[in-house]
Amino acid sequence: MRCYICEEHAVNAPNSADSEWVDCESCGRYGVTGSALALMRQNVRVFNVPRSRDWFALERSRGVDRPIIDTFNTLWD
Ligand SMILES: [Zn+2]
Repeated sequence: MRCYICEEHAVNAPNSADSEWVDCESCGRYGVTGSALALMRQNVRVFNVPRSRDWFALERSRGVDRPIIDTFNTLWD
């Protein structure tokens, strides 16, 4: 699989019926919801790589092991 953020090789695993976990060497561990994936698959939106990684770093500094990207995040390019 590929990382949804940077498109490097990543390990993806289903989380629930409506979300996925992603382990990327560059971006780290994160989750993404089905709603966000749907926007991506329709090619409506793409993620901004530095903004996404900055947000991951911020969330991790707050103790969130695996930040979850949803459509409300302002990580889109
Ligand atoms: Zn990545």
